[in-house]
Amino acid sequence: MVKMARIISIVNQKGGVGKTTTAINLGAYLSHLGNKVLLVDIDPQANASSGLGVDIRKLKKGIYDVIISDHPIHDVIHKTKHRDYKLVPSHVNLAGANVELVQIENREYVLGQKISYLEDQYDFIIIDCPPALGLLTINGLVASKEIIIPVQAEYYALEGLSQLMETIELVRDNLNPDLKVLGALVTMFDPRYKLSRDVLQELYKYFPSRIFRTAIPRNIRLAEAPSYGKTILKYDKKSSGAKAYHKLSREILEK
Ligand code: ATP
Ligand code: MG
Repeated sequence: MVKMARIISIVNQKGGVGKTTTAINLGAYLSHLGNKVLLVDIDPQANASSGLGVDIRKLKKGIYDVIISDHPIHDVIHKTKHRDYKLVPSHVNLAGANVELVQIENREYVLGQKISYLEDQYDFIIIDCPPALGLLTINGLVASKEIIIPVQAEYYALEGLSQLMETIELVRDNLNPDLKVLGALVTMFDPRYKLSRDVLQELYKYFPSRIFRTAIPRNIRLAEAPSYGKTILKYDKKSSGAKAYHKLSREILEK
């Protein structure tokens, strides 16, 4: 049987909520657990690319060339320090893509078309989206079958969530009817603070039965790892952050 990848976008237009940290480390543990994984970085900040050890200043080609110049996606697949974990990197150039895409035919579908060529070669394709609801993120949502929404455990976490859910609804109605919200993922959770518990309760009201059992704790090791170009699995697999992403991966494999 031909295998078809589970294609999962990590989305939240709110900045700094843990999208990239989740994309990188979820990918690492899914591959560790025996899956072939591809991470596609569609954020012009290219944090997922540098976090996985790619020197983005030296990069000749990336997802931008695939989306805008029709460069073959097979050509821009990079190795990582992990077996069975590959990366399609991004580049600051991609910032222009939001504008350039406007003029392209079927502009919402470009990424999905490119990724479909790889679907039978991976078990998981994870898309790290930028903190905006522009055309790049729409491309990510259209290319995906599933969505994970990282939500930072803080007071303002729920702000913007209704706009995000409306966007997902619009994409579902008009562009990708099969798109499924896998769940909201609580990140940077600190059980010592009451605020975190309150946010969690609010969130349960918002996403009944669609919050991951695993919450990602606030853990400095997770923040340090990218500066060494390492996933948490390579950097400190005994840390609380590593254990949480390991657990999250198993939870996702159950779904
Ligand atoms: P952006 O919207 O800019 O793309 P993002 O949603 O991808 O941001 P990250 O880059 O993953 O968010 O995280 C933001 C910052 O918080 C980073 O410095 C990251 O290292 C740190 N961080 C993420 N998750 C955790 C965590 N669980 N514990 C501690 N620090 C974290
Ligand atoms: Mg990011």
